[in-house]
Amino acid sequence: MRPATTMDVCQASPRVPRCPLWSKISVALLLTIAQANTVACTKETSSANPLPKTESTATPQPSPQTVPPDNAPLPHIDAARAFQYTREVTAFGPRYLGSENHKKLERYIASHLQGDQVEDDVFTADTVEGKFPVHNIIAKFPGEKDGIIVIMGHYDTNYPLRNMGFVGANDGGSSTAILLEYANHLRGKKRDGYSVWLVWTDGEEAVQQWSDTDSLYGTRHLAEKWDKDGTLKKIKALMVMDMIADADLDIVRATNGAPWLLDLIYAAAQRGGYQSHFYATEGAIEDDHVPFFKLGVPCADVIDLDYGYNNVFHHTTQDTMDKLSPKSMEIVGDTILETIHLLDQR
Ligand SMILES: [Zn+2]
Repeated sequence: MRPATTMDVCQASPRVPRCPLWSKISVALLLTIAQANTVACTKETSSANPLPKTESTATPQPSPQTVPPDNAPLPHIDAARAFQYTREVTAFGPRYLGSENHKKLERYIASHLQGDQVEDDVFTADTVEGKFPVHNIIAKFPGEKDGIIVIMGHYDTNYPLRNMGFVGANDGGSSTAILLEYANHLRGKKRDGYSVWLVWTDGEEAVQQWSDTDSLYGTRHLAEKWDKDGTLKKIKALMVMDMIADADLDIVRATNGAPWLLDLIYAAAQRGGYQSHFYATEGAIEDDHVPFFKLGVPCADVIDLDYGYNNVFHHTTQDTMDKLSPKSMEIVGDTILETIHLLDQR
């Protein structure tokens, strides 16, 4: 089946505000409708021609060798605390590039990382809406093994919706919060495994309309920097957390990632009994992992891109706390902690 035009989708979705990004996102939605269980979706697809759908609707199974024998207890985040962080971050209101709330959130994140090894990656992005300061925040938790596991999540909120009261509880809020909770988990513990770097990325959102040059400002800059200084070669795995708190949680298998890493995440989900929330759908997604994936870094985008029926809450003023659940943060949070544990053994 060929996808219908953007206009068809917009007409079918009268509740959707006329936002510049929506037309792109709607292509993904249409695919969701058209392809039932199998979807080729993008968070912000830059292509007018969506990816071809795949034939199989079966949930991919990890190969047995990806699951090492391991009797270690499963790690757990404090989901209530992670959810409270999400609430506090969302309460700042719109946190788009250049805004006062964005600065407040930068200070909020810094206040939770006192005593940690923090590095700031600050630069000025020249965008179609003008120049903006962009600020990636990196917290480093050293390990014994030679290599780095990077966990990322963006903290900026959608720019085109800045005057509509868009607060991004899930899109921007949940990703900021889960990383704060990971910092709590990692802090003050000796790590036998790889170093873990947490990165609160900035400028993930487009300022006008998603394209290769209008999106991913922070991570495009960081990937280039880490390519030049040799950091990229040390990264064993890079995982992006985005929109992970939807009460109706279904993480898509983002096919533009390292298959072995996607399998490892699935294996970690299985260990927690969470596999029904993972990978029922699949498709390439444009998100903060892309600049690193293009440079050969093993990546995984951990994202639920079916936020509300047919993704109706994504990039709308309905992206609010009442749609979220601490249980979802626990499912994703524990699964990625377990993935780190599995990675440490490789
Ligand atoms: Zn977004």
